[in-house]
Amino acid sequence: MRVVLMGPPGAGKGTQAEKLVEKFGMVHLSSGDIFRAEKASGSELGQKLAAIMETGALVPDDVVVEMMAKAIVAVEGSGLLLDGFPRTVAQGEALDETLTKMDAPLDAVVIIAADDDEIVGRITGRRSCPSTGKIYHVEYMPPKVEGIDDETGESLVQRDDDKEDVVRQRLEAYKKQTQPVIDYYRETGKVKIVEVDGMQSPDSVFADIAAALEAGEN
Ligand code: AMP
Repeated sequence: MRVVLMGPPGAGKGTQAEKLVEKFGMVHLSSGDIFRAEKASGSELGQKLAAIMETGALVPDDVVVEMMAKAIVAVEGSGLLLDGFPRTVAQGEALDETLTKMDAPLDAVVIIAADDDEIVGRITGRRSCPSTGKIYHVEYMPPKVEGIDDETGESLVQRDDDKEDVVRQRLEAYKKQTQPVIDYYRETGKVKIVEVDGMQSPDSVFADIAAALEAGEN
Protein backbone atom coordinates (compact mmCIF):
# COMPACT_ATOMS: atom_id res chain seq x y z
CA MET A 1 0.00 0.00 0.00
CA ARG A 2 1.26 3.48 -0.86
CA VAL A 3 -0.22 6.34 1.11
CA VAL A 4 0.38 10.07 1.52
CA LEU A 5 -0.41 11.38 5.00
CA MET A 6 -1.37 15.05 5.04
CA GLY A 7 -2.61 17.55 7.58
CA PRO A 8 -1.45 20.71 9.29
CA PRO A 9 1.47 20.56 11.70
CA GLY A 10 0.21 19.13 14.99
CA ALA A 11 -2.71 17.24 13.46
CA GLY A 12 -1.14 14.01 14.72
CA LYS A 13 0.60 12.76 11.57
CA GLY A 14 3.57 11.39 13.49
CA THR A 15 1.39 9.50 15.97
CA GLN A 16 -0.82 8.07 13.22
CA ALA A 17 2.22 7.17 11.11
CA GLU A 18 3.56 5.00 13.96
CA LYS A 19 0.25 3.18 14.22
CA LEU A 20 -0.11 2.75 10.46
CA VAL A 21 3.36 1.29 10.12
CA GLU A 22 2.63 -1.14 12.93
CA LYS A 23 -0.62 -2.31 11.30
CA PHE A 24 0.19 -2.20 7.59
CA GLY A 25 3.98 -2.58 7.66
CA MET A 26 4.84 0.05 5.09
CA VAL A 27 8.06 2.08 5.12
CA HIS A 28 7.56 5.46 6.81
CA LEU A 29 9.30 8.34 5.06
CA SER A 30 8.88 11.64 6.90
CA SER A 31 10.47 14.58 5.09
CA GLY A 32 10.80 16.46 8.39
CA ASP A 33 12.60 13.49 9.99
CA ILE A 34 14.87 13.12 6.96
CA PHE A 35 15.78 16.83 7.15
CA ARG A 36 16.35 16.68 10.91
CA ALA A 37 18.66 13.69 10.39
CA GLU A 38 20.59 15.70 7.77
CA LYS A 39 20.82 18.59 10.25
CA ALA A 40 22.08 16.23 12.97
CA SER A 41 24.78 14.94 10.61
CA GLY A 42 26.29 18.44 10.68
CA SER A 43 26.63 18.59 6.88
CA GLU A 44 26.58 21.87 4.98
CA LEU A 45 23.19 20.95 3.51
CA GLY A 46 21.95 20.12 7.02
CA GLN A 47 22.94 23.57 8.26
CA LYS A 48 21.09 25.21 5.37
CA LEU A 49 18.00 23.13 6.07
CA ALA A 50 18.12 23.98 9.77
CA ALA A 51 18.24 27.70 9.06
CA ILE A 52 15.04 27.43 7.00
CA MET A 53 13.23 25.05 9.35
CA GLU A 54 13.85 27.32 12.33
CA THR A 55 11.70 30.00 10.69
CA GLY A 56 8.77 27.69 9.92
CA ALA A 57 9.10 28.32 6.16
CA LEU A 58 9.29 25.54 3.60
CA VAL A 59 12.54 24.15 2.21
CA PRO A 60 12.83 24.90 -1.57
CA ASP A 61 11.10 22.38 -3.82
CA ASP A 62 14.21 21.31 -5.76
CA VAL A 63 16.03 20.31 -2.55
CA VAL A 64 12.98 18.49 -1.15
CA VAL A 65 12.21 16.66 -4.38
CA GLU A 66 15.78 15.45 -4.82
CA MET A 67 16.06 14.14 -1.26
CA MET A 68 12.64 12.51 -1.21
CA ALA A 69 12.94 10.92 -4.67
CA LYS A 70 16.21 9.35 -3.52
CA ALA A 71 14.59 8.02 -0.34
CA ILE A 72 11.59 6.64 -2.26
CA VAL A 73 13.67 4.94 -4.93
CA ALA A 74 15.85 3.38 -2.20
CA VAL A 75 12.86 1.48 -0.82
CA GLU A 76 11.36 0.52 -4.19
CA GLY A 77 9.06 -2.48 -3.89
CA SER A 78 7.95 -1.73 -0.33
CA GLY A 79 4.70 -0.22 0.87
CA LEU A 80 5.13 3.49 1.43
CA LEU A 81 3.82 6.00 3.94
CA LEU A 82 4.81 9.52 2.96
CA ASP A 83 4.47 11.96 5.83
CA GLY A 84 5.02 15.71 5.33
CA PHE A 85 5.66 15.27 1.60
CA PRO A 86 4.40 16.54 -0.82
CA ARG A 87 3.78 19.97 0.67
CA THR A 88 3.48 22.02 -2.54
CA VAL A 89 1.81 21.31 -5.88
CA ALA A 90 5.23 21.22 -7.58
CA GLN A 91 6.29 18.51 -5.11
CA GLY A 92 3.05 16.62 -5.81
CA GLU A 93 3.76 16.68 -9.53
CA ALA A 94 7.35 15.53 -8.99
CA LEU A 95 6.14 12.70 -6.75
CA ASP A 96 3.70 11.56 -9.44
CA GLU A 97 6.55 11.46 -11.92
CA THR A 98 8.77 9.40 -9.61
CA LEU A 99 5.98 6.94 -8.79
CA THR A 100 4.90 6.64 -12.43
CA LYS A 101 8.47 5.74 -13.40
CA MET A 102 8.45 3.09 -10.68
CA ASP A 103 5.01 1.88 -11.81
CA ALA A 104 3.92 2.33 -8.20
CA PRO A 105 0.92 4.68 -8.04
CA LEU A 106 -0.53 6.00 -4.79
CA ASP A 107 -3.45 4.12 -3.25
CA ALA A 108 -4.69 6.88 -0.97
CA VAL A 109 -4.17 10.39 0.33
CA VAL A 110 -5.15 10.62 3.99
CA ILE A 111 -5.91 14.09 5.34
CA ILE A 112 -6.09 14.65 9.08
CA ALA A 113 -8.05 17.84 9.79
CA ALA A 114 -7.57 19.95 12.93
CA ASP A 115 -8.24 23.55 13.96
CA ASP A 116 -5.62 26.22 14.56
CA ASP A 117 -6.03 26.91 18.28
CA GLU A 118 -6.05 23.22 19.11
CA ILE A 119 -2.94 22.80 16.97
CA VAL A 120 -0.99 25.51 18.75
CA GLY A 121 -1.81 23.91 22.14
CA ARG A 122 -0.83 20.49 20.89
CA ILE A 123 2.44 21.49 19.30
CA THR A 124 3.76 23.74 22.02
CA GLY A 125 3.19 20.87 24.50
CA ARG A 126 4.88 18.32 22.29
CA ARG A 127 8.11 16.68 23.51
CA SER A 128 10.11 13.80 22.07
CA CYS A 129 12.91 11.43 22.88
CA PRO A 130 16.11 12.67 21.20
CA SER A 131 17.28 9.19 20.21
CA THR A 132 14.12 7.22 19.34
CA GLY A 133 11.90 10.14 18.29
CA LYS A 134 9.01 8.81 20.41
CA ILE A 135 6.46 11.60 20.82
CA TYR A 136 4.75 12.73 24.05
CA HIS A 137 2.57 15.66 25.09
CA VAL A 138 3.00 17.33 28.47
CA GLU A 139 -0.77 17.21 29.03
CA TYR A 140 -2.42 14.68 26.71
CA MET A 141 0.23 11.97 26.51
CA PRO A 142 2.68 12.54 29.36
CA PRO A 143 5.58 10.19 30.05
CA LYS A 144 5.49 8.18 33.30
CA VAL A 145 8.09 10.55 34.80
CA GLU A 146 7.89 14.20 33.78
CA GLY A 147 10.43 15.13 31.12
CA ILE A 148 11.87 11.59 30.83
CA ASP A 149 11.42 9.01 28.05
CA ASP A 150 9.63 5.87 29.31
CA GLU A 151 11.95 3.48 27.51
CA THR A 152 15.38 5.06 27.28
CA GLY A 153 15.32 7.26 30.43
CA GLU A 154 16.68 10.16 28.38
CA SER A 155 15.49 13.75 28.89
CA LEU A 156 12.75 14.69 26.46
CA VAL A 157 13.33 17.65 24.13
CA GLN A 158 11.19 20.24 22.37
CA ARG A 159 11.81 20.83 18.66
CA ASP A 160 13.16 24.31 17.87
CA ASP A 161 10.26 24.88 15.50
CA ASP A 162 7.61 23.87 18.04
CA LYS A 163 7.65 27.32 19.69
CA GLU A 164 4.42 29.30 19.24
CA ASP A 165 5.55 32.01 16.76
CA VAL A 166 7.15 29.38 14.53
CA VAL A 167 4.06 27.18 14.77
CA ARG A 168 1.90 30.07 13.51
CA GLN A 169 4.29 30.48 10.58
CA ARG A 170 4.12 26.76 9.81
CA LEU A 171 0.31 26.92 9.84
CA GLU A 172 0.44 29.82 7.41
CA ALA A 173 2.73 27.83 5.10
CA TYR A 174 0.32 24.89 5.30
CA LYS A 175 -2.67 27.00 4.30
CA LYS A 176 -0.96 28.82 1.47
CA GLN A 177 1.25 26.12 0.01
CA THR A 178 -0.01 22.72 1.14
CA GLN A 179 -3.79 22.98 1.02
CA PRO A 180 -3.61 23.43 -2.79
CA VAL A 181 -1.99 19.96 -2.94
CA ILE A 182 -5.27 18.50 -1.68
CA ASP A 183 -7.11 20.24 -4.55
CA TYR A 184 -4.46 18.91 -6.91
CA TYR A 185 -5.20 15.32 -5.83
CA ARG A 186 -8.95 15.95 -6.00
CA GLU A 187 -8.62 17.28 -9.55
CA THR A 188 -6.56 14.35 -10.80
CA GLY A 189 -9.35 12.03 -9.61
CA LYS A 190 -6.86 9.14 -9.70
CA VAL A 191 -6.37 8.57 -6.02
CA LYS A 192 -8.72 7.83 -3.17
CA ILE A 193 -8.96 10.74 -0.72
CA VAL A 194 -9.69 9.97 2.91
CA GLU A 195 -10.49 12.87 5.23
CA VAL A 196 -10.61 12.21 8.95
CA ASP A 197 -11.43 14.37 11.95
CA GLY A 198 -8.15 14.86 13.80
CA MET A 199 -9.87 16.39 16.83
CA GLN A 200 -10.84 12.93 18.12
CA SER A 201 -8.65 10.72 20.33
CA PRO A 202 -5.62 9.26 18.53
CA ASP A 203 -7.22 5.79 18.67
CA SER A 204 -10.44 7.04 17.05
CA VAL A 205 -8.50 8.88 14.34
CA PHE A 206 -6.58 5.68 13.67
CA ALA A 207 -9.74 3.56 13.57
CA ASP A 208 -11.19 5.90 10.92
CA ILE A 209 -8.03 5.82 8.81
CA ALA A 210 -7.59 2.06 9.06
CA ALA A 211 -11.24 1.41 8.14
CA ALA A 212 -10.99 3.65 5.08
CA LEU A 213 -7.73 2.07 3.91
CA GLU A 214 -8.99 -1.46 4.46
CA ALA A 215 -12.17 -0.66 2.54
CA GLY A 216 -9.90 0.36 -0.34
CA GLU A 217 -8.15 -2.99 -0.32
CA ASN A 218 -11.30 -4.99 -1.11
P1 AMP B 1 7.59 18.53 9.81
O1 AMP B 1 8.36 17.70 10.76
O2 AMP B 1 6.91 17.73 8.74
O3 AMP B 1 6.62 19.46 10.49
O4 AMP B 1 8.65 19.45 9.03
C1 AMP B 1 9.46 20.38 9.73
C2 AMP B 1 9.97 21.42 8.78
O5 AMP B 1 10.77 20.81 7.74
C3 AMP B 1 8.91 22.23 8.03
O6 AMP B 1 8.42 23.30 8.80
C4 AMP B 1 9.72 22.69 6.80
O7 AMP B 1 10.59 23.75 7.12
C5 AMP B 1 10.57 21.47 6.51
N1 AMP B 1 9.87 20.53 5.60
C6 AMP B 1 9.46 19.26 5.88
N2 AMP B 1 8.90 18.68 4.82
C7 AMP B 1 8.91 19.60 3.83
C8 AMP B 1 8.45 19.61 2.48
N3 AMP B 1 7.83 18.54 1.94
N4 AMP B 1 8.65 20.74 1.76
C9 AMP B 1 9.26 21.82 2.28
N5 AMP B 1 9.72 21.88 3.54
C10 AMP B 1 9.53 20.78 4.32
